[in-house]
Amino acid sequence: MISVEEARTLLMDLVSPLETEDVPLSEANGRVLAQDAVARRMQPPFSASAMDGYAMKAAEVELHAMFKVIGESAAGHRFEGRVGAGQAVRIFTGAPVPDDADFVVIQEDISRSGDLITITDQPSQTHNIRPAGGDFDVGSSISAPRQLTPSDIALLAAMNIPNVTVTRRPDIALISTGDELVMPGDDPGPDQIIASNTFGLKAMLEAAGARARILPIARDTESSLRMAFSLAEGADLAITIGGASVGDHDLVGKVAADLGLERAFYKVAMRPGKPLMAGRLNSGAMVGLPGNPVSAMVCGALFIAPMVRAMLGLGTQPAAPIEATLAASVEKNGPRQHYMRARVDGDRLTAFDNQDSSLLTVLAEANALLIRLPHDPARTAGETVQYLPL
Ligand code: AMP
Ligand code: MG
Repeated sequence: MISVEEARTLLMDLVSPLETEDVPLSEANGRVLAQDAVARRMQPPFSASAMDGYAMKAAEVELHAMFKVIGESAAGHRFEGRVGAGQAVRIFTGAPVPDDADFVVIQEDISRSGDLITITDQPSQTHNIRPAGGDFDVGSSISAPRQLTPSDIALLAAMNIPNVTVTRRPDIALISTGDELVMPGDDPGPDQIIASNTFGLKAMLEAAGARARILPIARDTESSLRMAFSLAEGADLAITIGGASVGDHDLVGKVAADLGLERAFYKVAMRPGKPLMAGRLNSGAMVGLPGNPVSAMVCGALFIAPMVRAMLGLGTQPAAPIEATLAASVEKNGPRQHYMRARVDGDRLTAFDNQDSSLLTVLAEANALLIRLPHDPARTAGETVQYLPL
């Protein structure tokens, strides 16, 4: 059995960054920028008023000063004339500040009568002007690789970049295996349960940036598994769930080997998730996840989501563990690395009492995986421990 670290390394060797494609900005959220995006203009492109008020010369601004209003500058419609001594221009937020003006008195500090205005409150120190290029300059860039957020999308739009070059989404095929499984919404027989893993994993991997397809459930026969693998052909990564242990009906390893799997490893010294299998199959990678729902989801978080990140060009660095203080004691660990479902509140972490790898209710309550190294001794409340956020 190999260690979690060895498994990680071997899994990363099975994938590499994918090709790039151009997408319109409106479809770029969550995608990974593959080429630096460079601003084609500056923002704001002119010095702009930050407030509704009156633009004038800063040197003339003082309490009780009077001005003649000679025109208006609105957003999208600048005032073309010049602002002389004793003159002011009515101005609105986002409007260009006239060349000869360098101060905007907010309208709340002004009283107006016809074309005459008086400063009636002591104006603040700020000029209420956004300088040209104050947000970004022509040539400013957003560096790749970067998984684009809604804020990035807004910035790219402001930079006048209508299309971006991103890494293609990994295509992942998800295969649940087992005679006992039916799809959510189906009518299960008395001995059947609902296939939950494919749905949980699809959600997880799509959040990581992949495109995941749920294939029809494979039955516990060689022919059904072969059919499922054939449907997965062309995927960057084919994932089977279940059928990977040593039971009489666990056929994934055999069928994958018959189909030409170059196995990288089978079994990892971890809990949950021991019967993990992986290798190269056809032109893609194959990972056989254990069937227990929590095992499948934990392995998804620890291994598959990082593989997605690697394929997206985001690198192969593992997520950095975070430190917390143990709120309640935990027993000593066995020989396998244990990822205990836990709840972190502030910096205090509590591991759940029941760590059975079939309990999705516990997983849904958990927001962290407490990392227990092999043979970690018993830990008491107050000790510092490390976890991975879920
Ligand atoms: P297996 O590895 O096939 O022996 O499956 C281990 C356990 O996980 C069994 O209790 C299966 O019923 C369950 N299981 C396998 N696949 C799934 C799935 N896709 N969704 C929910 N439970 C599953
Ligand atoms: Mg099974």
